[in-house]
Amino acid sequence: MNGPEPLIFEMSQPGTTGFTLPEPGIDEIDPADHIPGKFLRSHLPLPSVAEVDVVRHFTRLSRKNHAIDVGFYPLGSCTMKYNPKVNEDMARLPGFAALHPYQPESTVQGALALMKDLEYALCEITGMDAFTLQPAAGAHGELTGLLLIKAYHDRKKNKKTKILIPDAGHGTNPASAAQCGYEVVTIKSDAQGGVDLEDLKAHLGPEVAGLMLTNPNTLGLFEPNVEKIAELIHGVDGLLYYDGANLNAIMGWTRPGDMGFDVMHVNVHKTFSTPHGGGGPGAGPVGVKKHLEPFLPCPRIAYDGKKYKLITKAKGSIGTMRTFVGSFGVLVRAYTYITQLGAEGLKEASSHAVLNANYLMARLKKHFLLPYDRFCKHEFVLSGKPQAAKGVKTLDIAKRLLDYGFHAPTVYFPLIVEEAIMIEPTETESKKTLDAFVEALEKILQEIETNPELVKTAPHTTPVGRLDEALAARKPDINFFQRPAG
Ligand SMILES: *Cc1c(COP(=O)(O)O)cnc(C)c1O
Repeated sequence: MNGPEPLIFEMSQPGTTGFTLPEPGIDEIDPADHIPGKFLRSHLPLPSVAEVDVVRHFTRLSRKNHAIDVGFYPLGSCTMKYNPKVNEDMARLPGFAALHPYQPESTVQGALALMKDLEYALCEITGMDAFTLQPAAGAHGELTGLLLIKAYHDRKKNKKTKILIPDAGHGTNPASAAQCGYEVVTIKSDAQGGVDLEDLKAHLGPEVAGLMLTNPNTLGLFEPNVEKIAELIHGVDGLLYYDGANLNAIMGWTRPGDMGFDVMHVNVHKTFSTPHGGGGPGAGPVGVKKHLEPFLPCPRIAYDGKKYKLITKAKGSIGTMRTFVGSFGVLVRAYTYITQLGAEGLKEASSHAVLNANYLMARLKKHFLLPYDRFCKHEFVLSGKPQAAKGVKTLDIAKRLLDYGFHAPTVYFPLIVEEAIMIEPTETESKKTLDAFVEALEKILQEIETNPELVKTAPHTTPVGRLDEALAARKPDINFFQRPAG
């Protein structure tokens, strides 16, 4: 399973085929009689491989990586919950899967109805007044939301230049604000892991366009002063942006719309169980309160009680954020998940996610440093400083976990915790799995005492060992798997 895998082109054996077409029953013609020579291909270098070998090749490749269908994936801030297969069944219904975005509206009424219903569901879950499903992912939703904030201030002729972001914020927040032309101002966290109100007040002024807040934040902690923060930001005619990449802690319990937020995005690929990771398609719907609705991107989906319609132009709209209406297949999966669980089910999912995180935190705080020791929400952040003092870094522990069959947690984020280990178990894991994860970490801690080199050179059982990560990202060696080991 871990041996080198050839390229499919190298498996090619001329004459082998995985597919045969029936005889066409018409006379053969010479393409050169009909197509100018410069457009004709002399040969088509496609591999000739039998069906069984194609299946085995791609199955072997798929097994070289970790996946949620293989094992536990506690990657903090990413919500790697199990993706129910019924979502896939629904997305593959021919009536959905075979749609074309240029089909006449009269033939896609069901698809438009599904999207409108998803908008309503997201409004209900978040307490917002309107949603656009257009943005392609979380960061794209942030950009959309910030453009809405900009449009609001432009309409009011407000001179606004700054966006405030707490230091616990996700890296995409400052990136999106800068993309939008705003100056990014970082607000400190206080000793409890919340926004430092004094620091916030010190940075407030008429030039503040808004604040981007994640709640619970990336430490997994709920912001107790959120209403006070909303009051302060609104006091300077700023808008409050909710980074709702992850709603897993709050579904059915509380809503950003009720906390005072004006605009937010949702990562349906995290909270609503559509597969993600490896750069696959996602969706980052953006919700707004009434006062921002006129600025939402087009097309918007309208319903007059009889027919659904796409509104492609609207006065005041910020324009179009991408082609067509959004990542439709992803939205079908999210809709399926929401309707399968229903209101009570979503609420229960959140309570289990929070319970699982607190269970792991209680077991692991004996072994690691816990910088903010209070009940967490869907995730929590440990520090590997005591282990680093012994010469074994958080990165080494994360790599060694791979040898035990677990995906590593998020490490070195959020930036405010040294040697950070950010763990998000999600609700879909059993106590047995959580216990096995703790036991693997306990074994690694023993190894740090008895054989630290083993941990520092991990992983040892994966298809590739320790890589130079910067080089691997910047100059990927795509032929790596072809080389014989060593
Ligand atoms: C994942 C995440 C994002 C970015 O979402 P993408 O879909 O990856 O662009 C933004 N904020 C937080 C808090 C996140 O966890």
